[in-house]
Amino acid sequence: MSQYRDTAAGTIGSEAVGSTVKIAGWVARRRDHGGVAFIDVRDASGIVQVVADPDVIDEVASLRMEYCVAVSGEVRPRPDGTTNPDLPTGMVEIGAEEIQILSPADALPFMLDDRVEVDERVRLEYRYLDLRRASMAANIAARSKATAAIRRTLDDLGFLEIETPTLVASTPEGARDMLVPSRLREGHFYALPQSPQLFKQLLMVSGVERYFQIARCYRDEDLRSDRQLEFTQLDLEGSFWGQDEVLDTIEQTLVAATEAVRGIRLTEPFPRLTWQEVMDRYGSDKPDLRFGMEIADLADLFESSEFGVFTSALESGGAIRGINTGVRDFPRSKADELTELAKANGAKGLVWMVVNDDRSLRSPVAKFLSDAEIRGVIDRLEAQPGDVLLLVADRWKTAVTVLGALRNVLGRPADHEDLAFLWVTDFPMFEEEEDGSITFSHHPFTTPQDVEMMATQPEHALARAYDAVLNGVELGSGSVRIHDPELQRKVFDILGIDSETAERMFGWFLRALRFGPPPHAGFAFGIDRLVMILQNEDSIREVIPFPKTQSGVDPLTGSPTLVDDRQLAELGITLRPETRTKLEES
Ligand code: ASP
Repeated sequence: MSQYRDTAAGTIGSEAVGSTVKIAGWVARRRDHGGVAFIDVRDASGIVQVVADPDVIDEVASLRMEYCVAVSGEVRPRPDGTTNPDLPTGMVEIGAEEIQILSPADALPFMLDDRVEVDERVRLEYRYLDLRRASMAANIAARSKATAAIRRTLDDLGFLEIETPTLVASTPEGARDMLVPSRLREGHFYALPQSPQLFKQLLMVSGVERYFQIARCYRDEDLRSDRQLEFTQLDLEGSFWGQDEVLDTIEQTLVAATEAVRGIRLTEPFPRLTWQEVMDRYGSDKPDLRFGMEIADLADLFESSEFGVFTSALESGGAIRGINTGVRDFPRSKADELTELAKANGAKGLVWMVVNDDRSLRSPVAKFLSDAEIRGVIDRLEAQPGDVLLLVADRWKTAVTVLGALRNVLGRPADHEDLAFLWVTDFPMFEEEEDGSITFSHHPFTTPQDVEMMATQPEHALARAYDAVLNGVELGSGSVRIHDPELQRKVFDILGIDSETAERMFGWFLRALRFGPPPHAGFAFGIDRLVMILQNEDSIREVIPFPKTQSGVDPLTGSPTLVDDRQLAELGITLRPETRTKLEES
């Protein structure tokens, strides 16, 4: 294979017995036993056991963990009772004839063993060591397999892989931009792209027709477990396309990536549910379909109830919804905990009921309910004795989202062994912000389903926008785009972007829409999130080779770092006095 080795360590099996091999890798483990050293040597292909006599080979004495070595010797069967059938190389060992130390290693900051819990900061500070661990090496390999499968699929379908710039004018995807000061045009800034959105649309105007890119995107957001300041998307766009073509193509890439990583063939097509449907049934626009616990509409059962909480909710146009969470222990403390959770999600309260053996209810509200109402709830929620039922009476959106949150807390599987992909379509065009103003749900280049409706009742208008969801995680979003500059202006108008601002921010893009843009549609999904789930991990940091911590710091390189005054001066930047003071204090 090279001057350093002729065999991959992890591939040596019984058929190699009797042959002489030369391997190169790292010392993963060393035990001394009966005067000989047992050394596990690891390379990218796996691990093999080397047996060496320190009296014969001088280097053995100095070998420490993670030294980089080359070993030659004869492959021989392991003595009876010492074989390890769980390891591909577990039937053999190499009797070392020569060991060459290619490079030594300092004492390790932590054990490179998947079974040892190590503080994440330390892992990230020594990421190059962390990546030597088997699980991390597997994650990185899975990531590569997934992107390779995606590329192959799209290449076969005639897509062009095209890069777009990363020093751009701001792209509005709803997050804060990361800015890069320009030295050549002092006082001016590039933004790092939140996504290639407008460039891919320009490519459609250019006549490309089928574009994709495995694109790095940047969003200056507060970080949560599944977010990073920079992340990778499969970004895709097609001309003369509508929603069906996008969903079908993206589905093919997801099927290929899943097959490449998990070795299983998903059933197609993925379920397609509208936003209204998933909100009604699961209380979330990214529902986890691996379990039931569907939300039921109970309003009709309580139309003439004596229970004021229910009737007043209905009178004010609200809803009564409930879920059957199944048989579970339900002490008072659990009821209190879930009620707090319901309140934290915006509900005024939570009604809980436990079905008794005689099909009566143990519930603080039981005394307010008629027999018919109790029977009605039990039937509607298909409840059996012991089942715990949770009900919320509130505005529709509050009732379903609160139950959706409770459903996740109570029903969600702990890992990602099973996979449930789905499409959510027909998203609302706009959503309300906390201050009551209106913003786009997807991005402002999304086509409304009904232009008239959008103008007159924007809060009810639907968009030609869709999401891909996997195991309760939003993988990505897309939409059919606006290709009519007049319609684009109308959307800006509703968003409160006046024509002057639109012209200043997107004049260049609006102009392109005046040169025969084809109808087009597209999508983007997060590679990090997809690989995270396929690898059964619970953080995207586990599948990103060099991620940042949740506070946006890279413990390995120390970024973000201070820069010297000369660099700032060249950029025409001075730090504000408050910032200087803060820095001096820290
Ligand atoms: N640019 C969008 C995003 O990053 C995806 C799309 O609409 O294609 O979410």
